[in-house]
Amino acid sequence: MAERVKALVTVKTYPLPSESHGELVCTAGVREDGSFIRLYPIDYRMRPYWQWYKKYQWVELELEKNAKDPRAESYRPVSEIRPIGEPLSTKNRWAERKRYVLGKGVQTMCELQASSQGQCSLGIIRPGQVLDFKAEPADREWKPEWKKLFQQKLLFGPQQKPLERIPYTFSYVFKCEEPSCTGHTKMIVDWEVGQLYRTMRDKFGSEEVAVEKVREKFFGQICADGIDTHFFVGTIRKYGQWIILGVFWPKKEVAGRQSC
Ligand SMILES: [Zn+2]
Repeated sequence: MAERVKALVTVKTYPLPSESHGELVCTAGVREDGSFIRLYPIDYRMRPYWQWYKKYQWVELELEKNAKDPRAESYRPVSEIRPIGEPLSTKNRWAERKRYVLGKGVQTMCELQASSQGQCSLGIIRPGQVLDFKAEPADREWKPEWKKLFQQKLLFGPQQKPLERIPYTFSYVFKCEEPSCTGHTKMIVDWEVGQLYRTMRDKFGSEEVAVEKVREKFFGQICADGIDTHFFVGTIRKYGQWIILGVFWPKKEVAGRQSC
Protein backbone atom coordinates (compact mmCIF):
# COMPACT_ATOMS: atom_id res chain seq x y z
CA MET A 1 0.00 0.00 0.00
CA ALA A 2 1.26 3.46 -0.87
CA GLU A 3 2.31 5.76 1.93
CA ARG A 4 2.61 9.56 1.67
CA VAL A 5 6.05 10.61 2.89
CA LYS A 6 7.95 13.86 3.42
CA ALA A 7 11.70 13.55 3.04
CA LEU A 8 14.68 15.89 2.98
CA VAL A 9 16.84 14.98 -0.02
CA THR A 10 20.52 14.78 0.93
CA VAL A 11 21.96 12.60 -1.81
CA LYS A 12 21.57 12.27 -5.58
CA THR A 13 23.84 9.86 -7.41
CA TYR A 14 25.11 10.17 -10.98
CA PRO A 15 22.50 8.53 -13.27
CA LEU A 16 23.05 4.98 -14.45
CA PRO A 17 21.54 3.29 -17.51
CA SER A 18 18.42 1.21 -16.98
CA GLU A 19 16.62 -1.01 -19.39
CA SER A 20 13.15 -0.11 -18.17
CA HIS A 21 13.60 3.64 -17.62
CA GLY A 22 16.53 4.62 -19.83
CA GLU A 23 18.43 5.91 -16.83
CA LEU A 24 17.97 6.06 -13.09
CA VAL A 25 19.18 8.04 -10.12
CA CYS A 26 19.43 6.86 -6.55
CA THR A 27 18.16 9.47 -4.15
CA ALA A 28 18.42 9.29 -0.40
CA GLY A 29 17.56 11.53 2.46
CA VAL A 30 16.06 11.72 5.90
CA ARG A 31 12.55 11.87 7.25
CA GLU A 32 11.53 14.51 9.77
CA ASP A 33 12.69 12.28 12.64
CA GLY A 34 16.18 11.96 11.13
CA SER A 35 15.82 8.36 9.95
CA PHE A 36 17.31 7.55 6.55
CA ILE A 37 15.24 6.69 3.51
CA ARG A 38 16.15 5.62 -0.03
CA LEU A 39 13.95 6.64 -2.99
CA TYR A 40 14.61 4.28 -5.86
CA PRO A 41 14.17 4.11 -8.76
CA ILE A 42 13.74 7.70 -9.99
CA ASP A 43 14.01 8.53 -13.70
CA TYR A 44 15.03 12.04 -12.70
CA ARG A 45 15.91 13.64 -16.05
CA MET A 46 12.86 12.11 -17.75
CA ARG A 47 10.48 13.78 -15.30
CA PRO A 48 8.94 17.20 -15.91
CA TYR A 49 11.18 20.04 -14.79
CA TRP A 50 8.93 21.08 -11.88
CA GLN A 51 9.72 17.74 -10.25
CA TRP A 52 13.48 18.33 -10.36
CA TYR A 53 14.16 18.51 -6.65
CA LYS A 54 17.47 19.81 -5.32
CA LYS A 55 19.64 18.56 -2.48
CA TYR A 56 18.47 19.76 0.95
CA GLN A 57 15.01 20.44 -0.40
CA TRP A 58 11.99 18.74 1.19
CA VAL A 59 9.94 16.60 -1.15
CA GLU A 60 6.57 14.96 -0.75
CA LEU A 61 5.59 11.82 -2.60
CA GLU A 62 3.86 8.48 -2.36
CA LEU A 63 6.01 5.45 -1.75
CA GLU A 64 5.65 1.71 -1.68
CA LYS A 65 7.91 -0.87 -0.15
CA ASN A 66 9.94 -2.45 -2.92
CA ALA A 67 9.54 -6.21 -2.50
CA LYS A 68 12.65 -6.89 -4.58
CA ASP A 69 14.85 -4.79 -2.34
CA PRO A 70 15.60 -6.34 1.08
CA ARG A 71 17.07 -3.12 2.45
CA ALA A 72 14.84 -1.66 5.16
CA GLU A 73 15.36 1.96 4.03
CA SER A 74 14.37 1.37 0.37
CA TYR A 75 11.07 2.64 -1.00
CA ARG A 76 9.78 2.92 -4.54
CA PRO A 77 8.18 6.22 -5.61
CA VAL A 78 4.73 5.66 -7.12
CA SER A 79 3.60 9.24 -7.62
CA GLU A 80 4.87 12.55 -8.91
CA ILE A 81 7.51 14.16 -6.70
CA ARG A 82 6.52 17.47 -5.19
CA PRO A 83 9.40 19.70 -4.03
CA ILE A 84 8.44 21.95 -1.09
CA GLY A 85 10.02 25.40 -0.62
CA GLU A 86 13.65 26.32 -1.09
CA PRO A 87 16.60 24.09 -0.11
CA LEU A 88 17.56 24.46 3.58
CA SER A 89 20.19 27.14 4.02
CA THR A 90 23.84 26.78 5.06
CA LYS A 91 23.55 29.60 7.62
CA ASN A 92 25.03 29.09 11.12
CA ARG A 93 27.31 26.25 10.06
CA TRP A 94 24.45 24.39 8.39
CA ALA A 95 22.38 24.42 11.61
CA GLU A 96 19.08 23.80 9.87
CA ARG A 97 20.47 20.92 7.80
CA LYS A 98 22.22 19.39 10.82
CA ARG A 99 18.99 19.31 12.77
CA TYR A 100 17.67 16.60 10.44
CA VAL A 101 20.79 15.05 8.92
CA LEU A 102 22.55 14.49 12.25
CA GLY A 103 19.28 13.89 14.13
CA LYS A 104 20.19 10.27 14.85
CA GLY A 105 23.90 10.87 15.37
CA VAL A 106 26.84 9.68 13.29
CA GLN A 107 28.60 6.36 12.95
CA THR A 108 31.90 5.11 11.62
CA MET A 109 32.54 3.04 8.52
CA CYS A 110 33.88 0.19 10.67
CA GLU A 111 30.62 0.12 12.68
CA LEU A 112 28.42 0.11 9.58
CA GLN A 113 30.47 -2.60 7.89
CA ALA A 114 29.95 -4.80 10.90
CA SER A 115 26.15 -4.76 10.43
CA SER A 116 24.26 -6.65 7.74
CA GLN A 117 22.60 -4.95 4.78
CA GLY A 118 19.16 -6.00 6.03
CA GLN A 119 19.76 -4.17 9.31
CA CYS A 120 21.26 -1.01 7.89
CA SER A 121 22.03 0.15 4.36
CA LEU A 122 22.28 3.94 4.67
CA GLY A 123 24.06 6.21 7.10
CA ILE A 124 26.24 9.19 7.76
CA ILE A 125 29.80 8.79 8.99
CA ARG A 126 32.45 11.14 10.28
CA PRO A 127 35.86 9.91 9.12
CA GLY A 128 38.65 10.32 11.66
CA GLN A 129 41.12 11.33 8.97
CA VAL A 130 40.75 11.68 5.20
CA LEU A 131 44.06 10.60 3.69
CA ASP A 132 43.55 10.93 -0.05
CA PHE A 133 41.16 11.42 -2.96
CA LYS A 134 41.93 9.22 -5.93
CA ALA A 135 40.91 9.40 -9.58
CA GLU A 136 41.37 6.20 -11.57
CA PRO A 137 40.66 5.75 -15.27
CA ALA A 138 37.44 3.83 -15.93
CA ASP A 139 35.67 2.61 -19.07
CA ARG A 140 35.15 5.48 -21.48
CA GLU A 141 32.04 4.13 -23.16
CA TRP A 142 28.83 2.53 -22.01
CA LYS A 143 28.60 -1.15 -22.90
CA PRO A 144 27.06 -1.81 -26.36
CA GLU A 145 23.62 -2.85 -24.95
CA TRP A 146 23.27 0.50 -23.21
CA LYS A 147 24.36 2.46 -26.27
CA LYS A 148 21.74 0.69 -28.35
CA LEU A 149 19.11 1.40 -25.73
CA PHE A 150 20.00 5.11 -25.63
CA GLN A 151 19.66 5.32 -29.40
CA GLN A 152 16.19 3.77 -29.21
CA LYS A 153 15.19 6.14 -26.42
CA LEU A 154 16.38 9.08 -28.51
CA LEU A 155 14.13 8.02 -31.35
CA PHE A 156 11.02 7.33 -29.32
CA GLY A 157 11.47 8.85 -25.89
CA PRO A 158 11.49 12.38 -24.52
CA GLN A 159 14.26 14.65 -25.76
CA GLN A 160 17.05 14.64 -23.26
CA LYS A 161 20.80 15.02 -23.65
CA PRO A 162 22.39 11.57 -23.85
CA LEU A 163 23.85 10.35 -20.58
CA GLU A 164 27.62 10.68 -20.60
CA ARG A 165 29.88 8.13 -18.99
CA ILE A 166 32.50 9.68 -16.71
CA PRO A 167 35.83 8.06 -17.64
CA TYR A 168 37.15 8.12 -14.05
CA THR A 169 36.29 6.49 -10.77
CA PHE A 170 36.76 8.82 -7.81
CA SER A 171 37.43 7.43 -4.32
CA TYR A 172 38.20 8.66 -0.84
CA VAL A 173 40.85 7.00 1.30
CA PHE A 174 40.17 7.49 5.00
CA LYS A 175 40.42 6.07 8.49
CA CYS A 176 37.87 5.89 11.27
CA GLU A 177 38.60 7.15 14.75
CA GLU A 178 38.71 3.59 16.16
CA PRO A 179 42.34 2.59 16.75
CA SER A 180 41.52 -0.83 15.27
CA CYS A 181 40.56 0.67 11.88
CA THR A 182 42.87 -0.39 9.08
CA GLY A 183 41.52 2.21 6.63
CA HIS A 184 38.93 2.32 3.85
CA THR A 185 38.97 3.18 0.16
CA LYS A 186 35.44 3.99 -1.00
CA MET A 187 34.18 5.13 -4.35
CA ILE A 188 32.06 8.29 -4.42
CA VAL A 189 29.08 8.32 -6.81
CA ASP A 190 27.64 11.77 -6.05
CA TRP A 191 26.08 13.37 -9.14
CA GLU A 192 27.97 16.57 -8.30
CA VAL A 193 31.35 14.88 -8.78
CA GLY A 194 30.48 13.78 -12.34
CA GLN A 195 28.89 17.12 -13.11
CA LEU A 196 31.89 19.11 -11.85
CA TYR A 197 34.22 16.91 -13.91
CA ARG A 198 32.19 17.54 -17.10
CA THR A 199 31.87 21.29 -16.51
CA MET A 200 35.61 21.71 -15.86
CA ARG A 201 36.61 19.53 -18.80
CA ASP A 202 34.43 21.61 -21.11
CA LYS A 203 35.70 24.86 -19.61
CA PHE A 204 39.42 24.01 -19.77
CA GLY A 205 39.35 21.49 -22.64
CA SER A 206 41.48 19.07 -20.62
CA GLU A 207 40.68 15.89 -18.70
CA GLU A 208 43.73 16.28 -16.47
CA VAL A 209 42.71 19.78 -15.45
CA ALA A 210 39.15 18.58 -14.83
CA VAL A 211 40.38 15.79 -12.52
CA GLU A 212 42.58 18.28 -10.67
CA LYS A 213 39.60 20.65 -10.21
CA VAL A 214 37.45 17.82 -8.83
CA ARG A 215 40.22 16.91 -6.41
CA GLU A 216 40.66 20.55 -5.43
CA LYS A 217 37.01 20.78 -4.40
CA PHE A 218 36.35 17.31 -2.97
CA PHE A 219 39.68 16.96 -1.15
CA GLY A 220 41.13 20.47 -0.89
CA GLN A 221 37.94 22.25 0.17
CA ILE A 222 35.62 19.59 1.54
CA CYS A 223 38.30 17.91 3.67
CA ALA A 224 40.13 21.10 4.74
CA ASP A 225 41.19 21.58 8.37
CA GLY A 226 38.35 23.88 9.38
CA ILE A 227 35.67 21.61 7.88
CA ASP A 228 33.64 19.04 9.78
CA THR A 229 33.67 16.48 6.94
CA HIS A 230 31.02 13.76 6.86
CA PHE A 231 30.15 11.18 4.21
CA PHE A 232 26.71 9.87 3.35
CA VAL A 233 27.20 6.17 2.71
CA GLY A 234 25.00 3.39 1.39
CA THR A 235 25.22 -0.19 0.18
CA ILE A 236 25.06 -1.53 -3.36
CA ARG A 237 22.12 -3.92 -3.23
CA LYS A 238 23.70 -6.64 -5.33
CA TYR A 239 26.96 -6.88 -3.41
CA GLY A 240 26.15 -5.37 -0.04
CA GLN A 241 29.30 -3.26 -0.35
CA TRP A 242 29.37 0.26 1.09
CA ILE A 243 30.10 3.27 -1.11
CA ILE A 244 30.02 7.04 -0.59
CA LEU A 245 26.87 8.69 -1.93
CA GLY A 246 27.62 12.27 -1.00
CA VAL A 247 29.33 14.69 1.35
CA PHE A 248 28.15 16.82 4.26
CA TRP A 249 30.66 19.53 5.08
CA PRO A 250 29.75 22.35 7.45
CA LYS A 251 32.51 24.40 9.04
CA LYS A 252 33.71 23.04 12.39
CA GLU A 253 32.14 24.47 15.51
CA VAL A 254 34.60 26.70 17.33
CA ALA A 255 35.47 24.95 20.59
CA GLY A 256 34.80 26.91 23.73
CA ARG A 257 33.12 29.77 21.91
CA GLN A 258 31.25 31.92 24.38
CA SER A 259 28.03 33.65 23.65
CA CYS A 260 27.64 37.12 25.06
ZN1 LIG B 1 37.19 2.01 9.80
